[in-house]
Amino acid sequence: MTLTPALLPPIIEAIAEVIEKNAEEITALDQAIGDGDHVINLQRGIQALMAHRDDLSQLDWVAAWQKIGMTLMTAVGGASGSLYGTLFMALSKAAREQPLDLQSFANTFTQGVEAVKQRGKAVAGEKTMLDVYIPVAEYLQTAAANSVALPDVLANVSRVAIEGMESTRDMLATKGRASFLQERSLGHIDAGAKTGQLMICAINEVLSRQLTSPA
Ligand code: ADP
Ligand code: MG
Repeated sequence: MTLTPALLPPIIEAIAEVIEKNAEEITALDQAIGDGDHVINLQRGIQALMAHRDDLSQLDWVAAWQKIGMTLMTAVGGASGSLYGTLFMALSKAAREQPLDLQSFANTFTQGVEAVKQRGKAVAGEKTMLDVYIPVAEYLQTAAANSVALPDVLANVSRVAIEGMESTRDMLATKGRASFLQERSLGHIDAGAKTGQLMICAINEVLSRQLTSPA
């Protein structure tokens, strides 16, 4: 399978679907320890990407990620808007090889996650989306170094993302709105970690389908 932006339309559609399907649950999570707007913020961004999905599929990764970053930066509100904007702008800056292989994607993604950490002044363990993205970036580096087969990489990335999402339940929030609640943030999964996990798993399902029946 070659990883080119031609994969973007089915990926964006799958993300729109999974976020729509889980919208109520995500809202409940953000209401518990945030202000409840996370899913609406994200859906505004996804709708904007849906409108651009065919144009995006014609670009190379540098241009596609830049367009995604700019789109999310303007369409998504809240803390998550600037963080997702930052992530994709950094992917664009880091993207070198076209098309991507596992090692080049791992490197690019790691730099994207680093940019989000800097932008949010956050590290692992602070009950944010980074508790999904950091372990996924680390796993991708390990998988690339050990030449793990792509079907196994996809399955493992989904598992790591789910574990990361679950791990936020017992974390004390020290960044974002949830940090205002201090100990009362304990016992709740972070909404941004949940949407990060759902999107990663949806992407992996699309890629798995491509592996078994390439278009
Ligand atoms: P807001 O908090 O401004 O209402 P959203 O509801 O859209 O924005 O997004 C909240 C999510 O953003 C949180 O659940 C968390 O995962 C993530 N988040 C908030 N602050 C940070 C930060 N400093 N670093 C990383 N992620 C963050
Ligand atoms: Mg919110």
